[in-house]
Amino acid sequence: MQGPAEKRLDPTVSPLFVDAVHDRLRAYDGRRVGDRRPCPGCGSRALRKNGYQRARKTFARLVTEDGFEEVGLEVQLYECKGCGQSFQGDLSSWFYPRCEYARPIVELCRFHAADHTYSECERLLERRYGLQVDRDTVERYDGRFTEPPDSRAVAVGERRVSLAFLAFLFGEDLDDDPPFVIRSPTALW
Ligand SMILES: [Zn+2]
Repeated sequence: MQGPAEKRLDPTVSPLFVDAVHDRLRAYDGRRVGDRRPCPGCGSRALRKNGYQRARKTFARLVTEDGFEEVGLEVQLYECKGCGQSFQGDLSSWFYPRCEYARPIVELCRFHAADHTYSECERLLERRYGLQVDRDTVERYDGRFTEPPDSRAVAVGERRVSLAFLAFLFGEDLDDDPPFVIRSPTALW
């Protein structure tokens, strides 16, 4: 730790914004995910539920005053009645293949990687959103997709943040503005 998290926050972004992001992400902690899918071994659809995976799947990692805080999902496991294989339910609506963090976090990394170095992204994600994603991970996400990221932005304080990320957290209907969505680029909160 380099000291209280507050000192590492971007002074032009209200700490209330980071708190709001954290609160919305914490709402996913412990959520049970994993829809039924055919057995990857034999294709059978005859399954039985087989409990939850011991290790949670990381959704996001928050940077708080007390250090890192993991937001994790409970992953439903299934057992195939045909071949006996045990496997995870379908996580594709939550995660891209081979990505540690959930889709909205991956998209947020790609949004900022469009005009920042990977090191800048790591720092920016911590200061602007209170999120931990190391630079190597940002680089992997940036190189993994062919289509461009969603570049729609909104100003919070004097900073550009991802509209898609805010829409994920607070709902698509931004007519009903959350309190930190500032229309004037110079407004603070
Ligand atoms: Zn099977």
